[in-house]
Amino acid sequence: MSNLPESFPVAIVGAGPAGAVLAYELATTGVRVLLLEKERLPRYKPCGGGLQARVVRRLGLDLQPVVRAAVDQLVFTYQLGRPVLRRARQPLIFMVMRDAFDAYLVERAARAGAEVRDGVRVDRVDWQEHAVLLTTSRGTVRAAVVVGADGANSRVAREAGLANGRDLDLALEGEFPAPAAARARWATTALLDLGSLPSGYGWLFPKGSGLSVGVGGPLLYRAQLRPYYERLLRWLGLEARDAERFSGHHLPLRRPGAPIVAHRTVLVGDAAGLVDPFTGEGLLGAVVSGQLAAGPVARAAAGDLAALQEYQRAIDRELMPELLEARVLLRVFDRMPRLAHWLMGNGQLAWRNLVRLLVGESDYRRLGGGSFRLAWHLLDRLLPVPAG
Ligand SMILES: Cc1cc2nc3c(=O)[nH]c(=O)nc-3n(C[C@H](O)[C@H](O)[C@H](O)COP(=O)(O)OP(=O)(O)OC[C@H]3O[C@@H](n4cnc5c(N)ncnc54)[C@H](O)[C@@H]3O)c2cc1C
Repeated sequence: MSNLPESFPVAIVGAGPAGAVLAYELATTGVRVLLLEKERLPRYKPCGGGLQARVVRRLGLDLQPVVRAAVDQLVFTYQLGRPVLRRARQPLIFMVMRDAFDAYLVERAARAGAEVRDGVRVDRVDWQEHAVLLTTSRGTVRAAVVVGADGANSRVAREAGLANGRDLDLALEGEFPAPAAARARWATTALLDLGSLPSGYGWLFPKGSGLSVGVGGPLLYRAQLRPYYERLLRWLGLEARDAERFSGHHLPLRRPGAPIVAHRTVLVGDAAGLVDPFTGEGLLGAVVSGQLAAGPVARAAAGDLAALQEYQRAIDRELMPELLEARVLLRVFDRMPRLAHWLMGNGQLAWRNLVRLLVGESDYRRLGGGSFRLAWHLLDRLLPVPAG
């Protein structure tokens, strides 16, 4: 028997949405791809599980088997008061539990031909001129290209020297069983609390038989997160001790120009820091980067290593302008949270445009025919920056 490591054109580390989408895209074009996941699947992932309708559209996949609720109503509160209910004519956010959603995407990749191995942790990555060697908890694997799809604390990013160049948010979340009354009350309604935390917010998302409740914001304000989470629970009539699960996790925000490609290596999803700074959502970035990486990774695996740079250019062209716009919008909302709440709760134009954004009929840059963008850039220049 040979002692040589198994060899694959592409090895993807991490079977979250970014890794699973990329594995599927590669497998459908006939590339031999190995998808390694340290947990046994399906695995729990701390996440609100809110999929904006535009993400579902982008995935182009029937998600009915894993959708727990389709949200068409949003309640906006300001510092846990002044609730205002807004209704849309169509679902805006589809709610999933991440164990089922991620496993669904991984099964699709496996059916397309990807080789999936769960319960296998990548412990070390060694770059050689003609290959990358992955030392895992179950032996060594050799690949022409390695993909870091291993989330916010990506080992691949760290070992490739690509882990700098990002800011960090932190989010805490609990999963609660929903008694019949709460289930009916929140069936297709989500809650967003604004103004309680600088650059952050709290949420309640319905999940059919349960509720996900969480808070998130910049790491800088981490000391305020737990007290805010508890205030939010009290306001909702929930007890922290009733949570079936409680956990926290980082949300990485890529800075402009930060490298996400290195020798025989690319990063996708959270590993690349592709979380929206305004909403704290990363599923769009995970899906889009998984899709955009497929062509360049396939070409690099076939010998054209320069193709990997095309992936970074595609991200900089197609995703980063949106994420950078989201940073500006966040800075503005942060300096006028009361007005932001009023606009969301009462402004017809603001609500109509939020709906268009969530369903994918528009994006930050094109909202209001581009006029919103001009307005918040102007405000960003004019509004005083709060002290501290
Ligand atoms: C509390 C919270 C709430 C959130 N709510 C939302 C929301 O409602 N909507 C939204 O769009 N986004 C939300 N996000 C963000 C979202 O969860 C992430 O952006 C998303 O999971 C990124 O997907 P990914 O595939 O890049 O990484 P992940 O989903 O983190 O997957 C990475 C995978 O890699 C595996 N892995 C890690 N290290 C190794 C290793 N060494 N070897 C093998 N495998 C490894 C992990 O086990 C994991 O399965 C939330 C985040 C948090 C923390």
